[in-house]
Amino acid sequence: MNELFINGLKQRIATPKKVVILPHRNADGDALGSTLALQHFLIKMNHETVVISPNDYPSFLKWLPGEDQILKYSNTPKTVRDKIREADLIFTLDFNSLSRIEDLTEVVKNASGEKIMIDHHEAPEDYAVLQYSDPNMSSTCEMVYKLIKTLDANAIDENIANCLYTGMMTDTGSFRYPATTSETHRAVAHLIEAGANGTQIHQNIYDSASFSRLKLLGITLSNLVQIPNLPIVFMTLNQNELESCEYKKGDTEGFVNYGLSLKGIVFSCIMIENENEGKIKMSFRSQGTFSVNDFARTYFDGGGHHNAAGGMSMESMEKTVARFKKAVSEISDQF
Ligand code: 5GP
Ligand code: MN
Repeated sequence: MNELFINGLKQRIATPKKVVILPHRNADGDALGSTLALQHFLIKMNHETVVISPNDYPSFLKWLPGEDQILKYSNTPKTVRDKIREADLIFTLDFNSLSRIEDLTEVVKNASGEKIMIDHHEAPEDYAVLQYSDPNMSSTCEMVYKLIKTLDANAIDENIANCLYTGMMTDTGSFRYPATTSETHRAVAHLIEAGANGTQIHQNIYDSASFSRLKLLGITLSNLVQIPNLPIVFMTLNQNELESCEYKKGDTEGFVNYGLSLKGIVFSCIMIENENEGKIKMSFRSQGTFSVNDFARTYFDGGGHHNAAGGMSMESMEKTVARFKKAVSEISDQF
């Protein structure tokens, strides 16, 4: 966080403003935790704030403090467009390319409010007047923690602590991915002192699955395929399989990680059909030097982080699998 950012922000939030805070589409724990934490903080500073989510998000996040006040573009498009147009400040959190908010991209692009980015993905787009971008950070929540601590450490209350802990926990795989540093743990220690309940948060997120979700995991694992002679696996889920297990948003979260639990496997992919949207959503995870961010950007119109990225395919499942196999054969010298 440089002086330019912090001073620019201080100046802009010195007097009450109309503030919109945006997570990316298909928000995860980090996106929602960071936006809600920032909102709780700005409310304390007397700003008029609203968190706007481009679409719905998993039910295992529907306990976060303040979550019930989030406006969803898919539910109330007109209200949302008006709020964005009227905003003095528009914070974009946990993403750095306006395409990540899909249907809201144009509205935000054309809005007169000043855009402020806080994000930890690589290669930020140049749309914000103030930018706090750091790909080395474990999570956007850790960045918002640093920001609030710099502005007013005493403001970190139980609500803010629970929101920030959630995103730090989910984006670090419960504090085990390499981006987890001693600083991350020091931040977490402070959040626990401020009232974060790690046991309860873990239970809310990871121990709240439905029977049908576990059945869907069973199908996914039975579809697991290894690419011959390479440390790469992929899984698929088609629409019929999803429907047979009454698929709900968030049910497939974390499935792709099972591929990496295999000894020797360093690249795992899951391809999930979405017939409604006419596309296949792809998730990529790696261990070590192989960059799934590069892979996703090169082959599947996506991106993300070095070890965790996503993308999409507009082709059928069959063609997408074939394209994935061809793509990995082209980069097989990297393994
Ligand atoms: P997931 O696989 O959990 O959806 O996403 C993993 C990471 O990749 C996240 O940090 C997410 O923000 C990023 N990501 C997922 N899908 C896309 C995509 O289509 N485009 C880009 N640029 N990033 C993505
Ligand atoms: Mn994140």
